[in-house]
Amino acid sequence: MMLILEIIGGLMFFGFMGFLSLLLLPGLFGCFGFLLVVVLLGGMIIFFSLNLVWVILFGLVYYIVMAGVKYLRYNKLPTYDSYLTANPNVYQNGQVCCSFCGAEHLSHVGLFGMRSKLRYYVCLRCRNWLYRFKVL
Ligand SMILES: [Zn+2]
Repeated sequence: MMLILEIIGGLMFFGFMGFLSLLLLPGLFGCFGFLLVVVLLGGMIIFFSLNLVWVILFGLVYYIVMAGVKYLRYNKLPTYDSYLTANPNVYQNGQVCCSFCGAEHLSHVGLFGMRSKLRYYVCLRCRNWLYRFKVL
């Protein structure tokens, strides 16, 4: 009986955390990685009945570290202007192409989910991150 209460409590906590992140950081809500972590941790609680506090701490630390690493990598990307300045030959035939492999097919991706305002362009062929931009 205690175990079931613990599981329900855990799920409610993660639902609450998801709701909080929806309020505080709208861009983070669409992050599938976060949902995956929630599901995995829920499974861990059910199957191993670990100490709930440690599971939550681990999940939070993992999520914050992953988001931090992503954000640092994003900040190191050049802006559109400095990308063109640093790579004068990437603008060809009226199109910007990849500075690593020269492919013309680029796609923009949100840093934290599809609707994220922090976005960057990736090369569809070599998967390198090219430059960042912000949606206003
Ligand atoms: Zn490329």
